[in-house]
Amino acid sequence: MSHKYVYLFSEGSGKMKNLLGGKGCNLAEMTNLGMPVPQGFTVTTEACTRYYEDGEKIHSEIEKEIFEYLTKLEAITGKVFGDLENPLLVSVRSGARASMPGMMDTILNLGMNDEVVEVVAKLTNNPRFAYDSYRRFIQMFSDVVMEISKKRFEEIIDEMKEEKGIKLDTEFTADDLREMVGKYKAFYKANLGTDFPQDPRVQLIESIKAVFRSWNNPRAIYYRRMNEIPHSWGTAVNVQSMVFGNTGDDSGTGVAFTRDPSTGAKKLMGEFLMNAQGEDVVAGIRTPQTIEHLKDVMPQAYEEFLTICDKLEDHYRDMQDMEFTIEKGKLYMLQTRNGKRTAAAALKIAVDLVQEGMISKEDAILQVDPKQLDALLHPQFDVKALKAAEVIGKALPASPGAASGKVVFTAADAVAWKNRGEKVILVRLETSPEDIEGMHVSQGILTARGGMTSHAAVVARGMGTCCVSGCGDIKFTSDKSFTLGGKSYKEGDYLSLDGSTGNIYGEAIPTVPASITGDFSTLMAWADEIRTLKVRTNADTPKDARQAVEFGAEGIGLTRTEHMFFEGERIAAMREMIVSKTEEQRRIALAKLLPMQRSDFEGIYEAMEYRPVTIRYLDPPLHEFLPTAEEDIVALAKEMNLEVKDLKDIISNLHEFNPMMGHRGCRLAVSYPEIAEMQTQAVIEAAINVSKRHPEWKIKPEIMIPLVGEIKELKYVKDIVVRVADELIAKSGIELEYLVGTMIEIPRAALLADEIATEAEFFSFGTNDLTQMTFGFSRDDAGAFLNSYYDKKIFEQDPFARLDQHGVGKLVEMACKLGKQTRPDIKLGICGEHGGDPNSIEFCHRAGLNYVSCSPFRVPIARLAAAHAAIKASRAK
Ligand code: ADP
Ligand code: MG
Ligand code: MG
Repeated sequence: MSHKYVYLFSEGSGKMKNLLGGKGCNLAEMTNLGMPVPQGFTVTTEACTRYYEDGEKIHSEIEKEIFEYLTKLEAITGKVFGDLENPLLVSVRSGARASMPGMMDTILNLGMNDEVVEVVAKLTNNPRFAYDSYRRFIQMFSDVVMEISKKRFEEIIDEMKEEKGIKLDTEFTADDLREMVGKYKAFYKANLGTDFPQDPRVQLIESIKAVFRSWNNPRAIYYRRMNEIPHSWGTAVNVQSMVFGNTGDDSGTGVAFTRDPSTGAKKLMGEFLMNAQGEDVVAGIRTPQTIEHLKDVMPQAYEEFLTICDKLEDHYRDMQDMEFTIEKGKLYMLQTRNGKRTAAAALKIAVDLVQEGMISKEDAILQVDPKQLDALLHPQFDVKALKAAEVIGKALPASPGAASGKVVFTAADAVAWKNRGEKVILVRLETSPEDIEGMHVSQGILTARGGMTSHAAVVARGMGTCCVSGCGDIKFTSDKSFTLGGKSYKEGDYLSLDGSTGNIYGEAIPTVPASITGDFSTLMAWADEIRTLKVRTNADTPKDARQAVEFGAEGIGLTRTEHMFFEGERIAAMREMIVSKTEEQRRIALAKLLPMQRSDFEGIYEAMEYRPVTIRYLDPPLHEFLPTAEEDIVALAKEMNLEVKDLKDIISNLHEFNPMMGHRGCRLAVSYPEIAEMQTQAVIEAAINVSKRHPEWKIKPEIMIPLVGEIKELKYVKDIVVRVADELIAKSGIELEYLVGTMIEIPRAALLADEIATEAEFFSFGTNDLTQMTFGFSRDDAGAFLNSYYDKKIFEQDPFARLDQHGVGKLVEMACKLGKQTRPDIKLGICGEHGGDPNSIEFCHRAGLNYVSCSPFRVPIARLAAAHAAIKASRAK
């Protein structure tokens, strides 16, 4: 066959990640580095995509190739599949390009059957171990390949423990385990109507298929959507000869990080379990010992492990997350990868590695995922309130953060409560991969079992969600209640978690805003040196503006003036304006709004000092401001001297069937020019006032006309702006410059951007509306049907969160090009939600925008993403 679908570990290399997956590629690399890796082979990601192309079948040629490599593996190990003298046992392990811990499935001890188990028992002189391995295999095969729930197998274990009067798995005797195997097989047969497969080759092919299938299990699909991993990549499958950590007290298995994944401290951190296999450590079923303990029990293996850790970190120039097994005192490496880490750890490690001379500043910047910073930008506990609060329990600080919320007990409840706007803390005995969505929507996660490397801990760190794990003091008193620290807690009660200390509090604790210091500010300074894209913020109040400046905003890209009209007495004046029947009435109401708006703008200019400020004129449909409750309508009618009935008529006249495409944006200014006049007066007078106080700031307002689709409508509104502004400036006796530009958010404006640019001095892409209008679906309603689009893999991402570069992006690129043709120095920016999305920011860099604008909390994320974009673009050349 011409195409190669299978590689021995010794044939692969670190450069073949796309083909071999992360795990396979690193196993190959460790093999090349001469490390003790149980040998095996990798079936490529291409074989997985081929499997799907072929209608979920492994092509006979690929199957043939797999068996050829099995023969090679037999030669390397000197063992033979199903052999009655020296049988080969293997693991079948999934491994995609991007690591997806716990999302897909692994099968251990494959090759076991009724005869082989006896041979292993004799060869090792350890029947207990042989039966333990066999029963684990049956359990994993049934779960992963035949999709029989693990639960029944665990029940069998529990029943047998009760029967035998024992507590721990390790207390089962060989005979107990043989009996367990019998029960497992009987259950298998009862469930499926066939005997447990005895032919190792059948076991192997079925398992490989199951790994391919697991690429498309719901939790893997959800994980990929969350982490923006394409569905098309597929997973590789690693078939690796087994080593055993469960042969007795001179064996064990563990996981370790070369640096602390919570804090980034340069110190080996890990856990291991004696006489245990594979998942035992991560499953959190037995609480493991710390890695230092290994020094005492197996000093030689420990020393060797330390040497390997150093070598791996040096090789990959990044913190490593490793799995190892010790069989009868001999160390084997089973996995290494760049370890997942918290945002704080990511920053510390990146900065430390530069200072240790291991990597460049550019590499350090690329090592930190911009989205991860989110966790550091959110509020922290108020120190005073924290001191005053009572600690009701303490457990492992598995993932940092400050979380306060109401207790829920299942992942499904977490999702349901979150959907009704509640903040929740998910409390579980332990978590499993099925819980991922519930974990994602929770403020924090608390588990009763499991260590620092348990599923809950690893996944929470990856998500940037606060997690406290392994709180053995929690006693569940029912499905939905527990006791801790002498008190009992039920669903809906408040709990707070401190993921940095592991402290648990039985109350809600207030929080304070975050700040950028230490390693965070060092890395951000490096990012600022490198990026060329400017970062502005969307801010409607001086408070937001100040927060954004703290976070490094270089200007405001969008001030939404309508947000200023919703509060207190302002809404009354606004309503009066809207229901006015004549221009005269309207001007009276607008005169009331003018001073409020002017002082808002003054506050914003003061907060932004010399930085540019873009102000968008009134945008939403007017009826959004109108009262709906009867008593509000009556009150408004009274204030305005109207009959209630007349007011109701006015309100119903304002009703629109499709308000987002209705009377809004510049259309309002076209119908009611006096609105634009008032807004211009407020913008310009505020600028004059602040300029008089601070001439050194050289304030230059940027006036932005929304929802333009036709050059004549822009010109109509711009003429009003220029007339009012120039008159005021002339009167003021000071010099003041200003710009008038537009949003590009209607496809027609993008198509005719060369015309629009004859009037517009800047463009700001309003990608929310532009996405909505390009796709033709409403942002407010799309949530309801987009889920079907994800399920059916029509969409991988929410186009309102991540810019559709293919379609909407084409309009953006076209508008940039056309705009520059007319006006070479035109300023280009983006102010939709996408302005804070790292992937979309990379696009903005390539499209040649001058700036992105996003909410204050995303400013640091955007600064880092802009640096990523600049580095990637220059490396791509
Ligand atoms: P995951 O990607 O979920 O971590 P892995 O494929 O790494 O799954 O395997 C699960 C567990 O089984 C790990 O602890 C791993 O070290 C162990 N394991 C996998 N293959 C072998 C093997 N050949 N010998 C011994 N242990 C193994
Ligand atoms: Mg693993
Ligand atoms: Mg818009």
